[in-house]
Amino acid sequence: MVIIYNMKVSIIGAGNVGSSAALLLAEKDICDQIVLVDIVESVRGKAMDINQSSTALGFNTKVIGSTDYEMIKDSDVIVNTAGFPRLKGSGSRDELLEKNMEIAKTVCSNIRKYSPKSIVINVANPVDVLTYAFYKLLGNEPSKVFGMGGLLDCSRAAVLISKETGVSVKDINVIILGTHGDTMVFSKEHTKVDNKQLKDSITDGKVHEIIKKTKFGGSELVSLMGQSGYVAPGACIARQVEAIINDTKEIFCIPALVDGHYGYRGFYIGVPVVLGKNGIEKIVELPLPEDEKKALSEAAKHVKESVSAVEKLK
Ligand code: NAD
Repeated sequence: MVIIYNMKVSIIGAGNVGSSAALLLAEKDICDQIVLVDIVESVRGKAMDINQSSTALGFNTKVIGSTDYEMIKDSDVIVNTAGFPRLKGSGSRDELLEKNMEIAKTVCSNIRKYSPKSIVINVANPVDVLTYAFYKLLGNEPSKVFGMGGLLDCSRAAVLISKETGVSVKDINVIILGTHGDTMVFSKEHTKVDNKQLKDSITDGKVHEIIKKTKFGGSELVSLMGQSGYVAPGACIARQVEAIINDTKEIFCIPALVDGHYGYRGFYIGVPVVLGKNGIEKIVELPLPEDEKKALSEAAKHVKESVSAVEKLK
């Protein structure tokens, strides 16, 4: 694989998720520059700290920290992690919408000003509906505006399946559609373990348990750590950016704008997509059994309701 080194990636928000993503992406050594932007001055220190790990980790990517949005100018990819996270005692991801919508407005106006052609990945929650807001506020093609959410759920489920079966996570391919939240749709039909169907590897009871644990994986972390996870989200962001930079055409489950896909149109929801140098190269339509179709319709109903809330907040 030829590595293109002239890539510039900007990450807005240098909190837990943003700075983890910057480190894990820098470690891949596939871009020239990573710009971290935040409203707090400590962003410079965070970038400096990551740079100082480059000798031990062996990467040449330069990480720049700034409070000046102009630094994102002409980025190839921009990742938004600026947003309030869930904390212990706080409510669901959906309750973050109003506050994170205000941040999204600032972020999008700066992207439009300095780097309108970038591929934009939104991570801030509630990710499905907020990514729709990004699409509307940026006015860019939907193939260039998408989210990160399902990949994290797939990664969480793969860890649980691996623990149960002893199969390496590298040989487990999980498919999760729907929302990054309570209405996620775990596809038993399309999840493969060592190229075999999930039901041929573990009992129905265990599958049910894994689905439940995956659904509440994020809340479990919040109750254990007092805040939401950031290493795994950072790693998933780095994987998505890598797929774009190296044009890998891998399939990831992510929030994307559906336009007739799976029978839905006009909102963002988690679906499998092919990621490459142009962003979303294609949405993959898998034939779903009746129970998964029904679960997806519940997820779609949930997102559609939140989309009307976004229209009001705009
Ligand atoms: P955090 O509080 O650690 O970091 C957020 C950062 O955003 C802070 O440093 C803050 O100063 C910065 N910020 C706020 N307003 C800004 C602005 N206008 N411009 C630039 N920076 C700004 O939170 P976190 O744990 O890093 O989580 C960030 C977001 O990601 C949250 O909304 C969280 O719910 C979400 N998240 C999503 C996933 C997912 O799978 N999609 C996973 C984990 C977290």
